[in-house]
Amino acid sequence: MDFRFTAEEEAFRAKLHGWIERTSEQVFGHGGAIGASTASLLDVGDDGQWRRLKEYHRKLHEAGYAALHWPIEYGGGGATLIEQAIYQDEVLSFGLPLYGCNQLAIDRIGPTLMFMGTQAQKDRYLPKMLTGEEVWCQGYSEPNAGSDLASLQTRAVIDGDSFVVNGQKVWTSLAHRADWQVLLVRTDPEAPKHKGISYLLVDMKTPGITIRPLVQMTGESGFNEVFYDNVRVPRENLVGEVNQGWQVSIATLMYERLSGGTRHPVERTITQLLELSKHVEFDGMTANRHPYVRQKLTQFAIEARCLRLSRYRSLTAHLKGKIPGPESSFGKLFATELNLRVAMFADELLGSYSALDKGSLGAVEGGRWQQRMLAARGLTIAAGSSEIQHNIIGERVLKLPKG
Ligand SMILES: Cc1cc2nc3c(=O)[nH]c(=O)nc-3n(C[C@H](O)[C@H](O)[C@H](O)COP(=O)(O)OP(=O)(O)OC[C@H]3O[C@@H](n4cnc5c(N)ncnc54)[C@H](O)[C@@H]3O)c2cc1C
Repeated sequence: MDFRFTAEEEAFRAKLHGWIERTSEQVFGHGGAIGASTASLLDVGDDGQWRRLKEYHRKLHEAGYAALHWPIEYGGGGATLIEQAIYQDEVLSFGLPLYGCNQLAIDRIGPTLMFMGTQAQKDRYLPKMLTGEEVWCQGYSEPNAGSDLASLQTRAVIDGDSFVVNGQKVWTSLAHRADWQVLLVRTDPEAPKHKGISYLLVDMKTPGITIRPLVQMTGESGFNEVFYDNVRVPRENLVGEVNQGWQVSIATLMYERLSGGTRHPVERTITQLLELSKHVEFDGMTANRHPYVRQKLTQFAIEARCLRLSRYRSLTAHLKGKIPGPESSFGKLFATELNLRVAMFADELLGSYSALDKGSLGAVEGGRWQQRMLAARGLTIAAGSSEIQHNIIGERVLKLPKG
């Protein structure tokens, strides 16, 4: 491993840093960041914040940063892996989402189409993903199919030139903002469960779709229940073959894993926690002077650094042409659990003030730590819960027998 960057890479970083600093300040105002620790996810707040995020995306695209990792032939930046890593470090250090308003499209749905879509699908959908004109969401989970995704029951039958979809999805992030969705449906209920699934591209304005936002414990509505009542989806919107959707969904999950759960702005959160510790009392003294608090902060900083180094290790493996290993599960597990522990420790520091909601009189830093604590649990569930990541590491890395 060599952690040094070349002069060109450092120049790339400096230019990017300056751009993000200026642009985020222009778009989001003082401090530049989006606010909650969920910025890396999809829960981006109210209508005003959503408009600002779309505006930021437009600028991101104009500057050529919207999809650095996409090949140039698809309108991306064709960046090297190192440049991509620098991009991620910089964006996360500002607490901003990696791909503007179109996280899922640019991170995984677009790459899935590049890999498995028809030429017509690539031509039709990829350009507007890049510009942010069409925002995408991912309809996988159902009330009885989360960790065990292949148990999904939303049905689609072929009728002439269309699939007719009936059923329900749940926890669909951004469905209420999205223009399009990738949807997993069961097209052969008789086949073994992994073999009767198809992968569709669905226009969210199609008649028969009802979206009901779910209010989370943060008070925000980042995800939704989505109901399908005889929704007609043109056959040309099928990706891959009928009943072969599991393979397509695995490609999407592969890109999701490649993107890695390490993409949480946890280092930034720890820096903010350090600042907080200078301004609150703990056990009769300023918190940052207390040995217990110092020990905790140091431990968090060490773990965050380990996470970064682990990401670099995975990058080095990539650069040497090795197939991605278990780092993505490790990274997802470790980053989201660390993020949760950091948020809970902030609450410990705040004591009874941690109960004050955002907007409450006396809420410390506008109640953002309380929001983070409430949101942090969700990150340990989304994209495969911690228990599932433990299973993957146990079975595929440690070669333990299946539980
Ligand atoms: C913030 C957030 C955003 C999300 N966004 C989306 C989205 O955009 N699109 C989408 O389709 N879904 C989305 N999800 C849903 C997410 O993928 C599921 O919540 C997740 O896969 C877990 O499924 P479940 O909620 O049905 O829980 P279940 O699978 O029912 O699990 C319940 C509990 O049992 C544990 N468990 C389950 N199976 C095992 C096992 N084999 N071994 C050990 N423990 C097990 C789980 O870890 C969990 O603690 C989102 C979730 C969150 C929290």
